[in-house]
Amino acid sequence: MVKGVFVDQWNNEYIPNRVDWRPEEGLFRVKPYSVNFPMSQIKERQATMWRYQEALPFETTDNTITMGEGMTPLVPLDADHPNLLMKMDYLMPTGSFKDRGAAVLIAKAKELGVSSVIADSSGNAGTAIAAYSARAGINCHIYAPASTSEKKLAQIEAHGAHIHKIPGSREDTAEAAKQAVEKENLYYASHVYNPFFYEGTKTFAFEVWEQLGEQVPDALILPVGNGTLLLGAYIGVQNLKEAGVINRIPRIIGVQSEACAPIARAFASGEPVSPAENRGTLAEGIAIADPMRGKEILEAVKDTKGTIVTAPEDGIKSAGQELAGKGFYVEPTTAATYAAYQQHKAEIVHPDEKAVMVLCGSGLKK
Ligand SMILES: *Cc1c(COP(=O)(O)O)cnc(C)c1O
Repeated sequence: MVKGVFVDQWNNEYIPNRVDWRPEEGLFRVKPYSVNFPMSQIKERQATMWRYQEALPFETTDNTITMGEGMTPLVPLDADHPNLLMKMDYLMPTGSFKDRGAAVLIAKAKELGVSSVIADSSGNAGTAIAAYSARAGINCHIYAPASTSEKKLAQIEAHGAHIHKIPGSREDTAEAAKQAVEKENLYYASHVYNPFFYEGTKTFAFEVWEQLGEQVPDALILPVGNGTLLLGAYIGVQNLKEAGVINRIPRIIGVQSEACAPIARAFASGEPVSPAENRGTLAEGIAIADPMRGKEILEAVKDTKGTIVTAPEDGIKSAGQELAGKGFYVEPTTAATYAAYQQHKAEIVHPDEKAVMVLCGSGLKK
């Protein structure tokens, strides 16, 4: 079976190429393919996300762009909370979980013979795409809002990417990137549209499963803006189930900012996801007013019998301080996940249950 074919919402198949970044209607997904987890072989490989090669969309195993990403530590919050485990994705090569997606997406772009890519982001996705493009010898154009801080742009620029500053909102930046993709026929290395990104983020679930002694926890607590980690984790647990190595899936608990919560609102009301207002939040990384994959995210969370909660704005700062007091130095968007857990824990996890929370982004980038 060919790995890495795209499908649209009616399951029409498309062979990925260098220019088509969306079907006539809706968005691309990767068509499910047969996966397996031969543990005795996996255990002999390096401790990176690439050790699950039988579950990744590549026909060959030569990978010259990896920086050893993945297999981040999984440790208890502290000695008093042995059942709440933190998955330390902020220790990735560029400081966030986005490296999982970028490593696979850019390896695929290289396989396709792409010479230039475009992505739009002002933060961690842009940095990850820029870094892996540099390793792959691919030209990288990052579209970012003009208001983006110089410090964030400096990391992207350091990897040799060309920055295009766009006046206006985050949505204006996305629009400008799409126009450039269409006009210049460049490869759209979008973490939102390009489904290869999710083929990378799904390794999050594989690692948690292996690190827990080939078991899944009762719940996964994950931030959700565009849902690139949440949807990846969902695909990952589906893969484990299809391969027959687990027989139940964890509940996925998504965390939004209370200041921008289109998915939480839709989940609570039973209505479809519609654009929300962004009232401004410290948790910038999840403040996505109009998530393109909102419907997919709702379906995934419901399928796992999970829920969506929001982070109280006035709890983010103290949550970050509390995490730092336990040794974890993370960015405010990540502190928001913990703030939401603190506020909602009675509703979302039983004290005897095992839960895994992700720490997505490093505090060193603030
Ligand atoms: C990207 C990012 C998020 C949100 O991910 P989505 O794909 O938008 O759901 C959360 N935290 C950090 C640190 C991120 O970089």
